[in-house]
Amino acid sequence: MTEQSARQLKVLFCSAEVTPFAKTGGLADVAGSLPKALARLGHDIRVITPRYGRVDPVRFGLEPVLDDLQVPMDETFEPVKIYAGRLGNQVPVYFVDSQKYFLREGIYGYPDDGERFILFSRGALEFIKRIGWAPDIIHCNDWHTAIIPNWLKTIYSADPFFQKTATVYTIHNLAYQGIFGWRILEIAGIDEYGFLYPEIPELANVVDLMARGMLFADVITTVSERYAQEILTPEYGEKLDPILRDRKDRLFGILNGIDTEELNPATDRHLAVNFDVNSLDRRVENKLDLQRQANMPLNPDVPLLGMISRLTDQKGFDLVGQVIEPLLRLFDVQFVLLGTGDPHYHAMFRRVAEQYPDRTGIFLTFNAELAQKIYGGSDMFLMPSRFEPCGLGQMIAMRYGSVPVVRETGGLADTVQDFDPRTGEGNGFTFKQYDPWAFFAAIIRAVETWKHRDVWRKLQIRGMTRDFSWDRSARKYVEVYLKALEFRAAEVMATGRP
Ligand code: ADP
Repeated sequence: MTEQSARQLKVLFCSAEVTPFAKTGGLADVAGSLPKALARLGHDIRVITPRYGRVDPVRFGLEPVLDDLQVPMDETFEPVKIYAGRLGNQVPVYFVDSQKYFLREGIYGYPDDGERFILFSRGALEFIKRIGWAPDIIHCNDWHTAIIPNWLKTIYSADPFFQKTATVYTIHNLAYQGIFGWRILEIAGIDEYGFLYPEIPELANVVDLMARGMLFADVITTVSERYAQEILTPEYGEKLDPILRDRKDRLFGILNGIDTEELNPATDRHLAVNFDVNSLDRRVENKLDLQRQANMPLNPDVPLLGMISRLTDQKGFDLVGQVIEPLLRLFDVQFVLLGTGDPHYHAMFRRVAEQYPDRTGIFLTFNAELAQKIYGGSDMFLMPSRFEPCGLGQMIAMRYGSVPVVRETGGLADTVQDFDPRTGEGNGFTFKQYDPWAFFAAIIRAVETWKHRDVWRKLQIRGMTRDFSWDRSARKYVEVYLKALEFRAAEVMATGRP
């Protein structure tokens, strides 16, 4: 370790969701795991998040630390309270509490979402100033906290408190950008700087918070190396690719990890039978258990295909819609799906369930326990995503001995290598073109390979023994934090400004 990387960094990690407090997607899992891994490396990392109505202070053992923080907002001040709790016994987590904005049942989806997350972000900065804890790095995530890098380069640029603070902005999914009108600039106190980036017609008359995070952060990251390349292109860039191309020397891809302690087939209490690489023979009991749960014939000799996913276009469900019928008609396979989302996919899967009642298990709901049973009992796990920033499902599936069949995109391309029958290399089955027959062919290759039990076992073991832990990624984040500090120091030198 170099002397510089051995230095303890102070990091404020800002996230709209943090597992186990509030979760709607992958962002929460990252916010719940990465800070713990950074703390294990010896850094002083603290998390800040809103206190939604569902975050019960008693249940989570939260203590009030400030009850009178006045946060500048619009022309006035908004009072907030701050609570403190812990993540995994070591990482402090601060909660921004506002009766007006956050004491509601849901997390997102309100007409004032823009204001809500402006208040949260400003509250985070004002809070650390108030307690006198000046971080080296403020790590912002997705659109909700994207305004922070913008503020540090405008209204806080002369504030000595933030003189040495660099910002890192992580894109978890470019599809959600936080787009608002002029009014949000007034609420955020930066209307004098106006709209930005008239070169992109779609941005000329709107405030795109994610775009601002990208424009002003010292370093931008996203959640896999492949996605970091893909988003430089118009195909994946969601209109922001020109900004990313301009700043590509500051863009880095770091693959997410998974919580390997929590997600462990040897200890997972949701499985009928626990197993590891040395007791893979026992895994079949989980398949039978899953078949029982799905009301399908109990038969270890039929390949069982699993899917767990939000039912959205992103996840490739139009391809699934095109291949599922011929697959079930022509091949002896079983199919289990767990997911919720777009109503037209619910309708599509209801039809599949009606047509093939004893070959399918269709669960149109969110069920964390059943998810583990599918990871631990299916033979193959399908993810034909149109785009996939990182993807956790394929990693969890591999850890549980289910072999992934995925489209080569984003994090799927970085974690799944196509099986080559000549060399025996690979850990899954992949296809390139977003095309139903390419997907169909990959499934059939998997089904045919599955019949060779010794080959299949090698694929399973390769997936189960791969290192998906956060520790490796956390080290990469530390490198990126140090780069952000270099960029920041160079800028301070160049402008002569604090
Ligand atoms: P995304 O964050 O885009 O939804 P990921 O693959 O990164 O996709 O993460 C999805 C996570 O949510 C996985 O852990 C998956 O098991 C879980 N999940 C998705 N849908 C469901 C569901 N209906 N029930 C239980 N868990 C689900």
